[in-house]
Amino acid sequence: MAVYDLILAGGGLASSLIAYRTAQLRPELKIVVAEKEETLGGNHTWCFHGTDVTSEQLDWLAPFVTSRWEEQQVRFPERRRSLSTPYLAATSDRLAEVMAETKVQTIRGTEAVALSPSSLTLADQTTLRGTVLDGRGAQRSDTITIAFQKFLGLEVRFEEPHGLTEPIIMDATVPQTDGYRFVYVLPFTNDTALIEDTYYADGETLPRETLRQGIEDYAVRQGWRIADVIREEEGVLPIVLEGDIDAYLGELQDAAPIGLRAALFHPVTGYSLPEAARLADLIAAEEDFSPENLRRVIERQVRERWRKHRYSRLLNRMLFRAAKPELRYIVLQRFYGLPQPLIERFYAGETTTGDRLRILAGKPPVPIHKAISALPPRRLEKDRQA
Ligand SMILES: Cc1cc2nc3c(=O)[nH]c(=O)nc-3n(C[C@H](O)[C@H](O)[C@H](O)COP(=O)(O)OP(=O)(O)OC[C@H]3O[C@@H](n4cnc5c(N)ncnc54)[C@H](O)[C@@H]3O)c2cc1C
Repeated sequence: MAVYDLILAGGGLASSLIAYRTAQLRPELKIVVAEKEETLGGNHTWCFHGTDVTSEQLDWLAPFVTSRWEEQQVRFPERRRSLSTPYLAATSDRLAEVMAETKVQTIRGTEAVALSPSSLTLADQTTLRGTVLDGRGAQRSDTITIAFQKFLGLEVRFEEPHGLTEPIIMDATVPQTDGYRFVYVLPFTNDTALIEDTYYADGETLPRETLRQGIEDYAVRQGWRIADVIREEEGVLPIVLEGDIDAYLGELQDAAPIGLRAALFHPVTGYSLPEAARLADLIAAEEDFSPENLRRVIERQVRERWRKHRYSRLLNRMLFRAAKPELRYIVLQRFYGLPQPLIERFYAGETTTGDRLRILAGKPPVPIHKAISALPPRRLEKDRQA
Protein backbone atom coordinates (compact mmCIF):
# COMPACT_ATOMS: atom_id res chain seq x y z
CA MET A 1 0.00 0.00 0.00
CA ALA A 2 1.30 3.45 -0.97
CA VAL A 3 2.02 5.71 2.00
CA TYR A 4 2.53 9.48 1.74
CA ASP A 5 3.09 12.43 4.06
CA LEU A 6 0.53 14.48 2.14
CA ILE A 7 -2.23 13.47 -0.27
CA LEU A 8 -4.08 16.20 -2.17
CA ALA A 9 -7.48 15.21 -3.55
CA GLY A 10 -8.14 17.15 -6.77
CA GLY A 11 -5.31 18.63 -8.81
CA GLY A 12 -6.57 22.19 -9.14
CA LEU A 13 -5.16 25.52 -8.06
CA ALA A 14 -5.14 25.09 -4.26
CA SER A 15 -3.77 21.53 -4.28
CA SER A 16 -1.06 22.41 -6.77
CA LEU A 17 0.12 25.50 -4.88
CA ILE A 18 0.17 23.60 -1.57
CA ALA A 19 2.04 20.67 -3.14
CA TYR A 20 4.50 22.99 -4.90
CA ARG A 21 5.29 25.14 -1.87
CA THR A 22 5.53 22.17 0.50
CA ALA A 23 7.87 20.34 -1.89
CA GLN A 24 9.98 23.49 -2.08
CA LEU A 25 10.30 23.98 1.68
CA ARG A 26 10.10 20.34 2.78
CA PRO A 27 11.81 18.31 0.02
CA GLU A 28 12.02 15.24 2.28
CA LEU A 29 8.21 14.81 2.31
CA LYS A 30 6.40 12.40 0.01
CA ILE A 31 3.53 14.24 -1.66
CA VAL A 32 0.92 13.06 -4.17
CA VAL A 33 -1.84 14.89 -6.05
CA ALA A 34 -4.81 12.81 -7.28
CA GLU A 35 -6.70 14.46 -10.17
CA LYS A 36 -9.64 12.91 -12.03
CA GLU A 37 -8.81 14.61 -15.34
CA GLU A 38 -5.79 13.78 -17.49
CA THR A 39 -4.05 17.09 -16.68
CA LEU A 40 -3.71 19.25 -13.60
CA GLY A 41 -5.30 22.69 -13.33
CA GLY A 42 -8.35 22.55 -15.63
CA ASN A 43 -8.85 25.39 -18.13
CA HIS A 44 -8.46 28.73 -16.38
CA THR A 45 -6.67 32.05 -16.44
CA TRP A 46 -6.12 32.97 -12.79
CA CYS A 47 -5.45 36.64 -12.13
CA PHE A 48 -4.57 38.55 -9.01
CA HIS A 49 -3.47 42.02 -7.95
CA GLY A 50 0.23 42.37 -7.13
CA THR A 51 -0.83 43.77 -3.75
CA ASP A 52 -2.95 40.70 -2.86
CA VAL A 53 0.15 38.77 -1.81
CA THR A 54 3.46 39.50 -0.09
CA SER A 55 6.66 40.08 -2.07
CA GLU A 56 7.94 36.69 -0.86
CA GLN A 57 4.77 35.06 -2.21
CA LEU A 58 5.20 36.92 -5.50
CA ASP A 59 8.69 35.43 -5.72
CA TRP A 60 7.67 31.83 -5.26
CA LEU A 61 4.57 32.26 -7.48
CA ALA A 62 6.75 33.65 -10.31
CA PRO A 63 7.07 30.35 -12.24
CA PHE A 64 3.26 30.17 -12.53
CA VAL A 65 2.87 33.74 -13.81
CA THR A 66 2.45 34.14 -17.57
CA SER A 67 1.64 37.88 -17.77
CA ARG A 68 2.20 40.94 -15.63
CA TRP A 69 0.86 44.46 -16.20
CA GLU A 70 1.97 47.45 -14.15
CA GLU A 71 -1.39 49.22 -14.34
CA GLN A 72 -5.07 48.35 -14.58
CA GLN A 73 -8.18 50.35 -15.33
CA VAL A 74 -11.91 50.40 -14.62
CA ARG A 75 -14.70 52.05 -16.60
CA PHE A 76 -18.17 52.98 -15.36
CA PRO A 77 -20.83 55.25 -16.86
CA GLU A 78 -19.63 58.11 -14.60
CA ARG A 79 -16.07 57.10 -13.74
CA ARG A 80 -13.00 55.99 -15.64
CA ARG A 81 -9.83 55.37 -13.68
CA SER A 82 -6.36 53.87 -14.06
CA LEU A 83 -4.74 52.37 -11.00
CA SER A 84 -1.02 51.74 -10.65
CA THR A 85 -1.68 48.38 -8.98
CA PRO A 86 0.12 45.57 -10.83
CA TYR A 87 -2.09 42.80 -12.21
CA LEU A 88 -0.79 39.29 -12.89
CA ALA A 89 -2.08 36.20 -14.66
CA ALA A 90 -1.29 32.51 -14.31
CA THR A 91 -2.69 29.82 -16.59
CA SER A 92 -3.67 26.19 -16.24
CA ASP A 93 -1.18 25.12 -18.92
CA ARG A 94 1.69 26.80 -17.11
CA LEU A 95 0.59 25.30 -13.79
CA ALA A 96 0.68 21.80 -15.29
CA GLU A 97 4.16 22.45 -16.75
CA VAL A 98 5.54 23.82 -13.48
CA MET A 99 4.12 20.92 -11.47
CA ALA A 100 5.62 18.40 -13.90
CA GLU A 101 9.05 19.72 -13.02
CA THR A 102 8.65 19.14 -9.28
CA LYS A 103 9.13 15.86 -7.45
CA VAL A 104 5.44 15.89 -6.46
CA GLN A 105 3.87 12.65 -7.67
CA THR A 106 0.61 12.90 -9.61
CA ILE A 107 -2.07 10.33 -10.27
CA ARG A 108 -4.24 11.54 -13.14
CA GLY A 109 -7.34 10.28 -14.93
CA THR A 110 -8.83 8.49 -11.91
CA GLU A 111 -11.49 9.87 -9.62
CA ALA A 112 -11.08 9.93 -5.85
CA VAL A 113 -14.17 8.09 -4.63
CA ALA A 114 -13.68 7.98 -0.85
CA LEU A 115 -11.78 10.30 1.46
CA SER A 116 -10.99 10.15 5.15
CA PRO A 117 -8.54 12.35 7.08
CA SER A 118 -5.86 9.68 6.61
CA SER A 119 -6.73 7.75 3.44
CA LEU A 120 -7.95 8.24 -0.10
CA THR A 121 -9.49 5.57 -2.33
CA LEU A 122 -9.44 5.91 -6.10
CA ALA A 123 -12.07 4.63 -8.53
CA ASP A 124 -9.82 1.64 -9.35
CA GLN A 125 -9.97 0.78 -5.61
CA THR A 126 -6.31 1.69 -4.98
CA THR A 127 -6.00 3.14 -1.48
CA LEU A 128 -3.40 5.74 -0.56
CA ARG A 129 -2.50 6.29 3.10
CA GLY A 130 -1.40 9.60 4.57
CA THR A 131 -2.84 12.98 5.56
CA VAL A 132 -5.51 13.92 3.03
CA LEU A 133 -6.53 17.48 2.10
CA ASP A 134 -9.66 17.93 0.03
CA GLY A 135 -9.16 20.32 -2.91
CA ARG A 136 -11.95 19.02 -5.14
CA GLY A 137 -13.46 22.47 -5.72
CA ALA A 138 -16.48 24.34 -4.35
CA GLN A 139 -18.98 22.56 -2.13
CA ARG A 140 -22.59 23.73 -1.87
CA SER A 141 -24.10 24.01 1.59
CA ASP A 142 -27.22 25.48 3.21
CA THR A 143 -24.95 27.08 5.81
CA ILE A 144 -23.61 29.66 3.33
CA THR A 145 -25.86 31.86 1.17
CA ILE A 146 -24.39 32.69 -2.19
CA ALA A 147 -25.19 34.53 -5.38
CA PHE A 148 -23.19 34.15 -8.57
CA GLN A 149 -20.52 35.74 -10.68
CA LYS A 150 -20.90 34.03 -14.02
CA PHE A 151 -18.82 34.65 -17.08
CA LEU A 152 -17.66 33.39 -20.42
CA GLY A 153 -14.35 34.45 -21.91
CA LEU A 154 -12.98 34.28 -25.43
CA GLU A 155 -9.26 34.54 -26.01
CA VAL A 156 -9.10 36.13 -29.43
CA ARG A 157 -6.68 37.37 -32.04
CA PHE A 158 -7.60 40.68 -33.67
CA GLU A 159 -6.95 41.68 -37.26
CA GLU A 160 -4.98 44.71 -36.04
CA PRO A 161 -3.33 45.70 -32.73
CA HIS A 162 -5.96 46.55 -30.10
CA GLY A 163 -4.02 49.49 -28.63
CA LEU A 164 -4.57 48.49 -24.98
CA THR A 165 -1.55 48.51 -22.68
CA GLU A 166 -3.28 47.56 -19.43
CA PRO A 167 -6.12 45.23 -18.47
CA ILE A 168 -9.65 46.56 -18.06
CA ILE A 169 -10.74 44.90 -14.83
CA MET A 170 -14.31 46.14 -15.12
CA ASP A 171 -15.91 47.92 -18.05
CA ALA A 172 -19.43 48.54 -16.79
CA THR A 173 -20.33 50.95 -19.57
CA VAL A 174 -22.18 48.03 -21.21
CA PRO A 175 -25.98 47.52 -20.95
CA GLN A 176 -26.82 46.40 -17.39
CA THR A 177 -28.83 43.26 -18.09
CA ASP A 178 -29.30 40.33 -15.63
CA GLY A 179 -27.71 42.12 -12.65
CA TYR A 180 -24.35 43.91 -12.46
CA ARG A 181 -22.69 43.34 -15.82
CA PHE A 182 -19.19 44.24 -16.96
CA VAL A 183 -16.64 43.23 -19.55
CA TYR A 184 -13.12 42.21 -18.50
CA VAL A 185 -10.22 42.47 -20.95
CA LEU A 186 -6.71 41.07 -20.52
CA PRO A 187 -4.44 42.22 -23.37
CA PHE A 188 -1.88 39.39 -23.61
CA THR A 189 0.00 40.60 -26.70
CA ASN A 190 -0.56 43.61 -28.93
CA ASP A 191 -3.10 41.71 -31.05
CA THR A 192 -4.51 39.08 -28.64
CA ALA A 193 -6.72 39.44 -25.55
CA LEU A 194 -9.02 37.50 -23.28
CA ILE A 195 -12.43 39.22 -23.25
CA GLU A 196 -14.93 38.07 -20.65
CA ASP A 197 -18.58 39.03 -20.37
CA THR A 198 -19.44 38.89 -16.65
CA TYR A 199 -22.69 39.06 -14.69
CA TYR A 200 -23.29 39.34 -10.95
CA ALA A 201 -26.59 37.56 -10.94
CA ASP A 202 -28.98 35.79 -8.58
CA GLY A 203 -29.29 32.72 -10.81
CA GLU A 204 -26.49 30.45 -12.00
CA THR A 205 -27.64 29.67 -15.54
CA LEU A 206 -24.95 30.61 -18.03
CA PRO A 207 -26.53 31.71 -21.34
CA ARG A 208 -23.41 30.95 -23.40
CA GLU A 209 -24.69 32.24 -26.75
CA THR A 210 -25.79 35.57 -25.23
CA LEU A 211 -22.38 36.00 -23.61
CA ARG A 212 -20.48 35.13 -26.82
CA GLN A 213 -22.63 37.66 -28.64
CA GLY A 214 -21.98 40.21 -25.85
CA ILE A 215 -18.23 39.79 -26.38
CA GLU A 216 -18.52 40.19 -30.14
CA ASP A 217 -20.68 43.32 -29.74
CA TYR A 218 -18.18 44.74 -27.26
CA ALA A 219 -15.26 44.15 -29.65
CA VAL A 220 -17.18 45.93 -32.43
CA ARG A 221 -17.90 48.91 -30.15
CA GLN A 222 -14.17 49.18 -29.33
CA GLY A 223 -13.38 49.12 -33.07
CA TRP A 224 -11.68 45.69 -32.82
CA ARG A 225 -12.15 43.09 -35.56
CA ILE A 226 -11.78 39.50 -34.29
CA ALA A 227 -9.70 37.38 -36.68
CA ASP A 228 -10.02 34.12 -34.72
CA VAL A 229 -10.94 32.63 -31.36
CA ILE A 230 -7.96 30.91 -29.74
CA ARG A 231 -9.71 29.40 -26.73
CA GLU A 232 -12.77 29.77 -24.54
CA GLU A 233 -13.24 29.55 -20.77
CA GLU A 234 -16.21 29.93 -18.48
CA GLY A 235 -17.04 30.03 -14.82
CA VAL A 236 -19.89 30.31 -12.34
CA LEU A 237 -18.25 31.46 -9.13
CA PRO A 238 -19.84 31.78 -5.70
CA ILE A 239 -20.36 35.28 -4.30
CA VAL A 240 -20.90 34.97 -0.55
CA LEU A 241 -23.67 37.03 1.02
CA GLU A 242 -23.73 35.58 4.51
CA GLY A 243 -23.10 32.35 6.36
CA ASP A 244 -22.24 30.32 9.40
CA ILE A 245 -18.62 29.25 8.93
CA ASP A 246 -18.55 26.97 11.99
CA ALA A 247 -21.55 25.02 10.76
CA TYR A 248 -20.02 24.86 7.28
CA LEU A 249 -16.70 23.48 8.53
CA GLY A 250 -18.58 21.03 10.73
CA GLU A 251 -20.13 19.52 7.58
CA LEU A 252 -16.74 18.78 6.00
CA GLN A 253 -15.50 15.92 8.11
CA ASP A 254 -14.11 13.59 5.39
CA ALA A 255 -10.79 15.40 5.09
CA ALA A 256 -9.71 18.98 5.81
CA PRO A 257 -10.83 21.25 2.94
CA ILE A 258 -8.61 23.64 0.96
CA GLY A 259 -9.27 26.14 -1.84
CA LEU A 260 -12.85 27.02 -2.76
CA ARG A 261 -14.01 24.04 -0.73
CA ALA A 262 -12.62 25.75 2.39
CA ALA A 263 -14.46 28.99 1.45
CA LEU A 264 -10.99 30.51 0.93
CA PHE A 265 -11.86 33.00 -1.77
CA HIS A 266 -12.65 36.69 -1.94
CA PRO A 267 -16.39 37.02 -1.30
CA VAL A 268 -16.82 39.77 -3.92
CA THR A 269 -14.80 38.29 -6.79
CA GLY A 270 -14.80 34.56 -6.12
CA TYR A 271 -11.03 34.69 -6.75
CA SER A 272 -8.93 32.32 -4.71
CA LEU A 273 -5.31 32.45 -5.88
CA PRO A 274 -4.05 34.80 -3.12
CA GLU A 275 -5.86 32.79 -0.43
CA ALA A 276 -4.42 29.55 -1.87
CA ALA A 277 -0.90 31.02 -1.79
CA ARG A 278 -1.35 32.09 1.85
CA LEU A 279 -2.58 28.66 2.90
CA ALA A 280 0.27 26.99 0.98
CA ASP A 281 2.78 29.03 3.00
CA LEU A 282 1.10 28.16 6.28
CA ILE A 283 0.98 24.44 5.56
CA ALA A 284 4.51 24.26 4.20
CA ALA A 285 5.80 25.91 7.40
CA GLU A 286 4.31 23.22 9.65
CA GLU A 287 6.51 20.61 11.32
CA ASP A 288 3.63 18.27 12.10
CA PHE A 289 1.80 16.95 9.03
CA SER A 290 -0.66 14.81 10.99
CA PRO A 291 -4.34 15.09 9.90
CA GLU A 292 -5.25 16.62 13.27
CA ASN A 293 -2.63 19.34 13.10
CA LEU A 294 -3.24 20.29 9.45
CA ARG A 295 -6.98 20.45 10.09
CA ARG A 296 -6.34 22.76 13.05
CA VAL A 297 -4.10 25.03 10.96
CA ILE A 298 -6.59 25.14 8.07
CA GLU A 299 -9.66 25.78 10.23
CA ARG A 300 -7.88 28.58 12.05
CA GLN A 301 -7.00 30.20 8.74
CA VAL A 302 -10.52 29.75 7.32
CA ARG A 303 -12.09 31.41 10.40
CA GLU A 304 -9.56 34.23 10.38
CA ARG A 305 -10.07 34.98 6.68
CA TRP A 306 -13.85 34.72 7.07
CA ARG A 307 -13.72 37.33 9.83
CA LYS A 308 -11.49 39.62 7.76
CA HIS A 309 -13.86 39.42 4.80
CA ARG A 310 -17.03 40.32 6.71
CA TYR A 311 -17.26 43.80 5.14
CA SER A 312 -16.92 42.27 1.70
CA ARG A 313 -19.98 40.21 2.49
CA LEU A 314 -21.79 43.39 3.54
CA LEU A 315 -20.82 44.98 0.23
CA ASN A 316 -22.24 41.91 -1.53
CA ARG A 317 -25.50 42.30 0.33
CA MET A 318 -25.60 45.95 -0.72
CA LEU A 319 -25.11 44.74 -4.29
CA PHE A 320 -27.57 41.90 -4.29
CA ARG A 321 -30.21 42.75 -1.72
CA ALA A 322 -30.44 46.52 -1.51
CA ALA A 323 -29.74 47.64 -5.07
CA LYS A 324 -32.07 47.09 -8.02
CA PRO A 325 -30.28 44.74 -10.46
CA GLU A 326 -29.84 47.40 -13.15
CA LEU A 327 -28.42 49.86 -10.58
CA ARG A 328 -25.94 47.47 -8.90
CA TYR A 329 -23.10 49.02 -10.87
CA ILE A 330 -23.44 52.22 -8.80
CA VAL A 331 -22.11 50.39 -5.71
CA LEU A 332 -18.87 49.52 -7.58
CA GLN A 333 -18.68 52.86 -9.36
CA ARG A 334 -18.67 54.59 -5.98
CA PHE A 335 -16.22 52.08 -4.49
CA TYR A 336 -13.75 52.82 -7.29
CA GLY A 337 -13.79 56.50 -6.31
CA LEU A 338 -12.04 55.60 -3.03
CA PRO A 339 -8.24 55.92 -2.56
CA GLN A 340 -6.11 53.30 -4.32
CA PRO A 341 -4.47 51.92 -1.12
CA LEU A 342 -7.95 51.28 0.32
CA ILE A 343 -9.01 49.45 -2.86
CA GLU A 344 -5.82 47.37 -2.68
CA ARG A 345 -6.45 46.48 0.96
CA PHE A 346 -10.04 45.58 0.12
CA TYR A 347 -8.97 43.06 -2.53
CA ALA A 348 -6.25 41.69 -0.25
CA GLY A 349 -8.88 41.16 2.48
CA GLU A 350 -6.96 43.49 4.80
CA THR A 351 -9.30 46.46 5.30
CA THR A 352 -8.84 48.63 8.39
CA THR A 353 -11.65 50.03 10.54
CA GLY A 354 -11.10 53.40 8.83
CA ASP A 355 -11.43 51.75 5.41
CA ARG A 356 -14.70 50.12 6.36
CA LEU A 357 -16.11 53.42 7.57
CA ARG A 358 -15.10 55.05 4.29
CA ILE A 359 -16.66 52.26 2.26
CA LEU A 360 -19.94 52.83 4.07
CA ALA A 361 -19.65 56.58 4.76
CA GLY A 362 -21.03 59.53 2.83
CA LYS A 363 -24.13 59.06 0.81
CA PRO A 364 -24.31 55.34 0.02
CA PRO A 365 -25.82 54.60 -3.36
CA VAL A 366 -28.18 52.08 -1.75
CA PRO A 367 -29.73 52.04 1.73
CA ILE A 368 -27.33 50.16 4.04
CA HIS A 369 -30.11 49.23 6.46
CA LYS A 370 -31.62 47.17 3.63
CA ALA A 371 -28.36 45.26 3.21
CA ILE A 372 -28.19 44.59 6.93
CA SER A 373 -31.85 43.96 7.71
CA ALA A 374 -32.23 41.60 4.73
CA LEU A 375 -30.39 38.94 6.76
CA PRO A 376 -32.26 36.28 8.70
CA PRO A 377 -31.65 36.96 12.45
CA ARG A 378 -29.51 33.84 13.12
CA ARG A 379 -27.21 34.50 10.16
CA LEU A 380 -26.94 38.16 11.02
CA GLU A 381 -25.89 37.31 14.57
CA LYS A 382 -23.26 34.86 13.25
CA ASP A 383 -21.96 37.39 10.73
CA ARG A 384 -21.75 40.07 13.42
CA GLN A 385 -19.81 37.74 15.73
CA ALA A 386 -17.36 36.80 12.94
C1 LIG B 1 -12.78 30.05 -15.75
C2 LIG B 1 -12.39 30.51 -14.36
C3 LIG B 1 -11.57 31.61 -14.21
C4 LIG B 1 -11.19 32.04 -12.94
N1 LIG B 1 -10.40 33.13 -12.82
C5 LIG B 1 -9.88 33.42 -11.62
C6 LIG B 1 -8.92 34.45 -11.49
O1 LIG B 1 -8.65 35.19 -12.46
N2 LIG B 1 -8.31 34.64 -10.30
C7 LIG B 1 -8.62 33.86 -9.21
O2 LIG B 1 -8.01 34.00 -8.14
N3 LIG B 1 -9.62 32.97 -9.29
C8 LIG B 1 -10.23 32.71 -10.46
N4 LIG B 1 -11.19 31.75 -10.53
C9 LIG B 1 -11.79 31.26 -9.29
C10 LIG B 1 -11.01 30.23 -8.50
O3 LIG B 1 -9.80 30.76 -8.03
C11 LIG B 1 -10.75 29.01 -9.34
O4 LIG B 1 -11.99 28.36 -9.55
C12 LIG B 1 -9.75 28.03 -8.73
O5 LIG B 1 -9.36 27.14 -9.72
C13 LIG B 1 -10.29 27.33 -7.52
O6 LIG B 1 -9.29 26.52 -6.99
P1 LIG B 1 -9.56 25.14 -6.26
O7 LIG B 1 -8.24 24.49 -6.11
O8 LIG B 1 -10.41 25.34 -5.08
O9 LIG B 1 -10.46 24.31 -7.31
P2 LIG B 1 -10.10 23.86 -8.77
O10 LIG B 1 -8.95 24.60 -9.31
O11 LIG B 1 -11.38 23.88 -9.54
O12 LIG B 1 -9.63 22.35 -8.58
C14 LIG B 1 -10.49 21.31 -8.25
C15 LIG B 1 -9.91 20.07 -8.95
O13 LIG B 1 -10.47 18.90 -8.37
C16 LIG B 1 -10.71 17.96 -9.40
N5 LIG B 1 -11.67 17.00 -8.87
C17 LIG B 1 -12.97 17.23 -8.55
N6 LIG B 1 -13.52 16.10 -8.05
C18 LIG B 1 -12.54 15.16 -8.04
C19 LIG B 1 -12.48 13.79 -7.64
N7 LIG B 1 -13.54 13.18 -7.11
N8 LIG B 1 -11.32 13.14 -7.77
C20 LIG B 1 -10.20 13.76 -8.29
N9 LIG B 1 -10.21 15.04 -8.70
C21 LIG B 1 -11.36 15.73 -8.57
C22 LIG B 1 -11.20 18.82 -10.55
O14 LIG B 1 -11.08 18.15 -11.79
C23 LIG B 1 -10.26 20.03 -10.44
O15 LIG B 1 -9.09 19.88 -11.18
C24 LIG B 1 -11.63 31.33 -11.79
C25 LIG B 1 -12.48 30.25 -11.95
C26 LIG B 1 -12.88 29.84 -13.20
C27 LIG B 1 -13.83 28.67 -13.34
